[in-house]
Amino acid sequence: MRPAPFDYVAPTTIEEVVALLAEHGEDAKIVAGGQSLIPMMALRLARPAVLVDIGGVDSLQHVGPGSIGAGVTQATLEREAPHPLLAEVLPLIAHPAIRNRGTIGGSIAHADPAAELPAVALLCDAELVARGPAGERVIAAVDFFESYLTTALAPDEVLTEIRFPTHHRTGFAFREVSRRHGDFALVGAGARVTVDRAGDVVDQRLVFIGVGSTPVIAEDASELEPSDDVHATAAYRKHVAGVLARDVLLTARSRA
Ligand SMILES: Cc1cc2nc3c(=O)[nH]c(=O)nc-3n(C[C@H](O)[C@H](O)[C@H](O)COP(=O)(O)OP(=O)(O)OC[C@H]3O[C@@H](n4cnc5c(N)ncnc54)[C@H](O)[C@@H]3O)c2cc1C
Repeated sequence: MRPAPFDYVAPTTIEEVVALLAEHGEDAKIVAGGQSLIPMMALRLARPAVLVDIGGVDSLQHVGPGSIGAGVTQATLEREAPHPLLAEVLPLIAHPAIRNRGTIGGSIAHADPAAELPAVALLCDAELVARGPAGERVIAAVDFFESYLTTALAPDEVLTEIRFPTHHRTGFAFREVSRRHGDFALVGAGARVTVDRAGDVVDQRLVFIGVGSTPVIAEDASELEPSDDVHATAAYRKHVAGVLARDVLLTARSRA
């Protein structure tokens, strides 16, 4: 199917983006890489009257160890790998053609519960920086993912930056199971493990994807309540989550 008719605007500054979102309200939608939004528009699951393309906003394009602009493509992050967890996770996302256009901010704002980058944000305790008519606010990743494809971002806010705090003596690991390489994960698990000088674990976090309406933080897989769907049964998902969790915890600890 073809998308419903829409207007297209391509601002070059974040101030223009915010002004356009304020002007058009819920009729407007940001487009970044378009790899999730355009298919939804083609299926008429989304019908924005105005597309605000943020691809030409230079201030969204920086990459550093502690901060990544929301408009940076997944392919750039795969190449530059500013965080070890990103280096491990990026090759698991879709295929090179999709990563060439898809952005870190688009994936986090879209908030697919089987997507990898929202889990990275939770594992790293990332801070998500949003700009709107009232200025800038910083949202902790743990407060960001509210329900299926729904986040704490207001319709008139744009995600501008993802900040990664430094974790000392900490290892990360991520694994997933999908039917074919590049498919969305049936189940995935990531771990963050921090050790003290003696090598004893002092802190750890597990995050699972594909097991609920958001990425899920849990002590272990026994807490999960996945559902059956056409891709896998709930029992299969829970079993695989447990196997992956053991694996990523051991790997993250060995890397800490
Ligand atoms: C065949 C296929 C396979 C895929 N497989 C995977 C996979 O295995 N794992 C995975 O994680 N993803 C997968 N994806 C999704 C892909 O990673 C997308 O690139 C990503 O989900 C969205 O990023 P985008 O930049 O394309 O966002 P867009 O499609 O442009 O936007 C997505 C949503 O986010 C909003 N948005 C975008 N940027 C911002 C911003 N800065 N501030 C506020 N709102 C914003 C848009 O308004 C829209 O609602 C797949 C996509 C396809 C087509």
